[in-house]
Amino acid sequence: MNEDFITFTIGKQKKIALIAHDGKKREMIDWCFENQEILKGHFLCGTGTTARLVAEKTGLPVKGYNSGPLGGDQQIGAKIVEGNIDFVVFFSDPLEAQPHDPDVKALLRIAQVYDIPIANNRATADFLIRSEFMNQEYQHKVINFKKSVSDRVNDQNLLH
Ligand code: PGA
Repeated sequence: MNEDFITFTIGKQKKIALIAHDGKKREMIDWCFENQEILKGHFLCGTGTTARLVAEKTGLPVKGYNSGPLGGDQQIGAKIVEGNIDFVVFFSDPLEAQPHDPDVKALLRIAQVYDIPIANNRATADFLIRSEFMNQEYQHKVINFKKSVSDRVNDQNLLH
């Protein structure tokens, strides 16, 4: 309780979220197709349209959340906070403005806060998926949110 960080374990079987903006969906489907033998060994989920397309085109089971512009990125961010997603492949489109840009930023930020591996382009996704850590547990240090709340409450000095 006194530590600033606590150790979390990313299991051998990763809980992977897949997200691709419209201009990157083809790339995501191709990437999942190429890597389906590896992806088969993990749990997959994704934003609505991406999840549906990957599932239909590759046959991999992918749990779908809402579509990105309708809150899907926020759902995935919340799952990261809850510890139910521990690996993200997010092919965002750097050449197209998105109506849900604040949600995209929020997701990137929360992945950083929780020290989640996140690939934003194909090369990074290729390097990540071939990492030795894909086949083993990985321990990482995450901010101790309980201590953080206690410290912040104490700092407010309003309890007396
Ligand atoms: P989609 O959402 O998979 O439903 O298209 C992705 C996004 O645009 O963030």
